[in-house]
Amino acid sequence: MTVKHERKEANGGVTKKQKLKGSKSKNISIHERDEGINSSGENPITFWDCSKNIDVPKQPDQIKKLHVYDFDNTLFYSPCPNPNLFNDQTIGMLANSDMLSYGGWWSEPLIFKNMGAGWDVESQRQWESFWNQDVENLLKLSYEDDETLAIIMTGRKNKKFIEFISEILESRGIKYDGLMLKKGNFNTTIDYKTQVLTDILDHYNKIEQVSIYDDRPSQLNGFQKFLNEYTEAVRPELIYNLIPVSPEVKYLEPKKERALIEELLEQHNSLVDQGKSTAKLGRMTLKRSFFFSAYIVEVDSKAELLSYLIDKFNHIFTPEVQDSIDFQLDFIPISRNRVSAALELKINEDPEVEWKITSFGVSNDDAFAVRVEPVGVELPVKTLYDPPFLTIGTKRNSPTLTWERLEKIVDWVDLKDNVTIKTRFGQVVKFRIVKENANYNKTRYKRPLSSGTTE
Ligand SMILES: [Mg+2]
Repeated sequence: MTVKHERKEANGGVTKKQKLKGSKSKNISIHERDEGINSSGENPITFWDCSKNIDVPKQPDQIKKLHVYDFDNTLFYSPCPNPNLFNDQTIGMLANSDMLSYGGWWSEPLIFKNMGAGWDVESQRQWESFWNQDVENLLKLSYEDDETLAIIMTGRKNKKFIEFISEILESRGIKYDGLMLKKGNFNTTIDYKTQVLTDILDHYNKIEQVSIYDDRPSQLNGFQKFLNEYTEAVRPELIYNLIPVSPEVKYLEPKKERALIEELLEQHNSLVDQGKSTAKLGRMTLKRSFFFSAYIVEVDSKAELLSYLIDKFNHIFTPEVQDSIDFQLDFIPISRNRVSAALELKINEDPEVEWKITSFGVSNDDAFAVRVEPVGVELPVKTLYDPPFLTIGTKRNSPTLTWERLEKIVDWVDLKDNVTIKTRFGQVVKFRIVKENANYNKTRYKRPLSSGTTE
């Protein structure tokens, strides 16, 4: 790990260069800087930039365009909490910054330190597999254009993340006109980002065009609202483009992820015990909520089957319906037990089992499944339900899906297209974060588990 530690926040973010230049910046108090208030009219780039390596900001006279790039899952594929490892509620809890002390998933540097093959290895590779290369190329063009300000802006907290993000960008040789991380007392990321935008647009008053790249629709909506108002009130001739970027979802290695979440909870609980926690939740613990031996569908098969079904049943899977479904296609359950119990069933546990898709069924218009039968296996294939089926997906607003409901589908539609999927014998485990319960049997909890989604 070679994150540099010499950068200090103690001076309130005033760079050496600004101190030397004196002029306007000396009027800004540390208090104001911490609050994110630029009252003296200092150049907003030097005021908001956290990299401390913008020698001389581009001058207002020459700038006609502003290009703003979000970092997480726009420029860089940072890992998200893994839905194969945690239930939805737990993922919501981790993603929400006021539930756990230290702010949860997106406020936790430990996640950054454990990305991919680990910090040092990935640094050496310039984080090769983590970049959205289209966005990286666009950023390069923006930076090289003398009339454009190329800004990277993220809601990640400056104090916690500047060293990590600077080093990642540096390892790749990525250049920018400003690297803005959240500082100041803003309630939300969009409040902070629109303040930075206001300062830049006010100062760089010849900007005619703004382009903003972001993966989150909620952020783009926030920008749109702001830019509508700004255009109307201040600069009617301003043109803006909001460009949604599709994220490529990356996860941590499952065992590592589970261990990190346990560590996060320990830190949280220790603050709760000391009475120092400002988070909404009290003492919490990680509990196994779900454990199956299963035939786990391989990623390629998943994609092929899904595109086959969407094509075949395009009257059902209209684009609107597709948007409303959580597609699963994850596994065909064998037993609710640990793998050893499953083995006692003397089932076929070849690493790979192929299945033919025989029919398609819908339950109450909101849950979908296909029936499957094994292809060319010698030993019996045991499944929890007989005939076996694979859950395709559920509409988001529908009641919690139970397999019993899918099993009761009667009007299955036969499929004769000879579509097959490949699966691997393994275990599926999910965890959830729950309130610590005094009655909870800790001995059982501590028993070594096969963590991870597939083994
Ligand atoms: Mg993002």
